[in-house]
Amino acid sequence: MSQSSECLAFDNWLSFFEPRTMNSELLIKNGRVIDPANGIDKECDVLIVDEKIAEVGEIDKSVQTVIDAAGKLVTPGLIDIHVHFREPGDEEEETIASGSNAAVAAGFTSVVCMPNTNPPIENETDVEYVHRKGRQARKTHVYTMGTITKKREGVELAEMGFMAEAGAVGFTDDGNGVQNPSVMLRALKYAAMFDIVIAQHCQDDSFAGQGVMNAGFHSTILGLPGPMRCLKRRCCGGIFSLLRKQMFATTPSIYRQQGQLS
Ligand SMILES: [Zn+2]
Repeated sequence: MSQSSECLAFDNWLSFFEPRTMNSELLIKNGRVIDPANGIDKECDVLIVDEKIAEVGEIDKSVQTVIDAAGKLVTPGLIDIHVHFREPGDEEEETIASGSNAAVAAGFTSVVCMPNTNPPIENETDVEYVHRKGRQARKTHVYTMGTITKKREGVELAEMGFMAEAGAVGFTDDGNGVQNPSVMLRALKYAAMFDIVIAQHCQDDSFAGQGVMNAGFHSTILGLPGPMRCLKRRCCGGIFSLLRKQMFATTPSIYRQQGQLS
């Protein structure tokens, strides 16, 4: 990572997230402040008083703590909506605590864990487990998605309602695409009831097969099997037609009037 794109994070952020006493002042100087919500992208200073941003601009003031952020980005907390912390099941690779440390060190203050752990996150208790581990780590905000289907097998819907009530922020069988359209249609309907997103792993296994590289000139020369480029398009196309069907089923008169569905 180049110096100019380096995020203000690292040790400074770690200490920033520790509990601070009231009347604390922190001045971040000379960083490139990027704040899309307020239309700011310029080199300036940020004054933080009692954990709240008090001022942004050219600030000349003597305060308790000053951080020189020259050559670094100063941004609102970044959000990663697709992380694999590998807990439960593969803690030797990553835990929710070690993943949280890595996230906050890079400026990510919220993360969404994927549910393809071992076992997968597929019920209320699993969701609560991830949240509890995230709170115990006391670093970044840890959210999780739940699986769409039990064991990510694409056959039987997981306990989506209970997981939604427990705070799951979405559903996905990440790593596996749901292959059965009728299962997918029911999943979309349930997710709509809870106003929660479905993140489909867009892969049609009938096209993917046992492929080891993209199908094309080189796979033909090497004699290696490869999935065709259309597999994702076909999978996405299938989902869009399901969405059309669902919209048609729930609000037919509106869409018929607008001529959006035939
Ligand atoms: Zn993934």
